[in-house]
Amino acid sequence: MPKIVQLSQHVANLIAAGEVVERPASVVKELLENAVDAGASQVTVEIRDGGMTFLRVTDNGCGMQAEDARTAFLRHATSKLRSAEDLAAIATMGFRGEALAAIASVSRIDLLTKTPGAIAGTSLHLEAGNITEESEAGCPDGTTIIVRDLFFNTPARMKFMKSDTYEGSRVAAAVQQQALAHPEVAFKLIRDGKQALSTPGTGDLGAAVYCVYGRECANMVKVESKWENYTLTGFVSKPTDARPSRNLQTFFVNNRPVKSKILIAALEEAYRNQIMVGKFPACVLHLYLPANTVDVNVHPAKTEVKFLAEKAVFDCVHYGVLGALNKTPDRPQVQFKPAPAPTLPPKPAPIAPQQSSPKPKADFYRTMTAEEFKTFSAALTDAPKPRPEAAAATAAKIQQRQSLPLYSPVKLPTVAPVSKPEPAAEEPEQTVLPMPEEIPWHLVGELYRSYVIVEQGEEAFLIDKHAAHERLLFEKLKANQEAITAQNLLAPIPCRLSPESCAELLSNQGLLEELGFEIEEFGDNTVLLRQIPMDLSPEDAADALETIAADLLSGRRESKDAVRDEVLHTVACKAAIKAGWHSDEKELLALVKQVMENDDLKYCPHGRPICISLSKKQLEKQFKRA
Ligand code: ADP
Ligand code: MG
Repeated sequence: MPKIVQLSQHVANLIAAGEVVERPASVVKELLENAVDAGASQVTVEIRDGGMTFLRVTDNGCGMQAEDARTAFLRHATSKLRSAEDLAAIATMGFRGEALAAIASVSRIDLLTKTPGAIAGTSLHLEAGNITEESEAGCPDGTTIIVRDLFFNTPARMKFMKSDTYEGSRVAAAVQQQALAHPEVAFKLIRDGKQALSTPGTGDLGAAVYCVYGRECANMVKVESKWENYTLTGFVSKPTDARPSRNLQTFFVNNRPVKSKILIAALEEAYRNQIMVGKFPACVLHLYLPANTVDVNVHPAKTEVKFLAEKAVFDCVHYGVLGALNKTPDRPQVQFKPAPAPTLPPKPAPIAPQQSSPKPKADFYRTMTAEEFKTFSAALTDAPKPRPEAAAATAAKIQQRQSLPLYSPVKLPTVAPVSKPEPAAEEPEQTVLPMPEEIPWHLVGELYRSYVIVEQGEEAFLIDKHAAHERLLFEKLKANQEAITAQNLLAPIPCRLSPESCAELLSNQGLLEELGFEIEEFGDNTVLLRQIPMDLSPEDAADALETIAADLLSGRRESKDAVRDEVLHTVACKAAIKAGWHSDEKELLALVKQVMENDDLKYCPHGRPICISLSKKQLEKQFKRA
């Protein structure tokens, strides 16, 4: 039997490093958290080569005395926990006293630190976690940590690093996130000698958001709402300023950055019917709730959360955002007029709302604050309930009167057209089927600038012009496997993106070129578009690029073909004629011709129907002629 030995400190640190230190950005995240914990009001991050060779974080916080500076690099050394009772704090803040030890074990470190009031500071040098030099040093109050040659002693990890541009962008994202988490701290990022970010640190979240999200997000709406002991503050974009991806959605729970499907759903529910499909609101939202109602994963690299009361969290965010959006005067008003339905009796109201204390209007839910909603829903629970037998009887009556569904998805002929060569020998039934007669069709017109009406024999078709065009373009792009015809732009278009999107696009330049996009790095999270696909209009190019970045980011683990399809779909969608646009008859005819002659144009790439049919028989039934 091999003897059991305790792992050496160094090996234990390396294991911890594997968890905590994934890449330069994770080092920055840990060092920034420490600086904020140390009470700093100014923090500067400087990186070179994406942070791989040089990474420095300077703060003006409380600093460390010589002895503390030495112990700080020991595993489980923390000044933030003293006893087992404090352990609860681990769950909320993630203090584990591991970060410095872990970072030090995979790099070379210089530390300079001085407490205010001390005459001299301390300077330490560490190699792979061991202190090799120590001296007194003259330095300002606060702490500076320089991390050099990250992963120099763990080549396996080094191999996982992407380009310096990519790693640098991840660092930028980490700094941005802290800047949004702590508007009271002034953050600076210097990337390869150039200033990439600077926030004022005045405590004004709006100012921090402006610095991080840029000018396009200058018109965001302030959110401030309270719900029991939950507080929601922050900014959300107006419905008219929706973005092509979710990249600018940032959520914090008790100041910790989190990723949460519930929070996203609650936010987006507040925009329902106000923004187009495929567009997303931007936000920076801080949710504060009692520590014992949330379980933040203690794994330092993860950002998942679990809420004890998911419904309450959803409502708090949903109604908080809804309330804020309703207060902005220039929001396009959504009208809720009851649709006239003279042939059917009115639906039985499930609850008698007029009996509840606050008088509900048609758009009542949309203008309620969280508190109002609570009073309202409480009143509803007290309100008399409908008699289920009566409701069931009425429902049955409605059912009886309602005839078949008006429209059904079209079944286009699946039999090969006359021109199709070689009736396949292995499919004999095709050869015996009689060829369908070519029934002539004609264009009747267009409804709502969206649906083209075509009549063919005893059948009418409604074709969604955007969906159809999108599908045709997609097929064309896909068939044209090699290169897509591109157009050079006279004036390059600058696109400001999130650091991750920027990095993802820059590391996929080959694929983008195949697709007709030529981009160039411009710095400050901006890329220049020099060339775009022929089918895309320059006005749509920036949007398309951002969506493509989101496709690439979300599909990173999928096959290259799947990602390519997704990207082609985005190009097709952006390049297609839109519902609501005016199309002249010639354009519509060309489109309809392709749809009518193509035997499998049933669905667009996203599975939405392109064409629905309405037969003469169905109409006759509706009008009680049959
Ligand atoms: P944790 O933050 O979980 O306590 P770390 O390994 O990140 O663990 O840091 C260890 C300790 O070093 C901290 O508890 C703190 O006392 C000290 N420390 C780290 N960074 C700083 C800093 N920038 N300023 C002052 N003290 C610091
Ligand atoms: Mg720490």
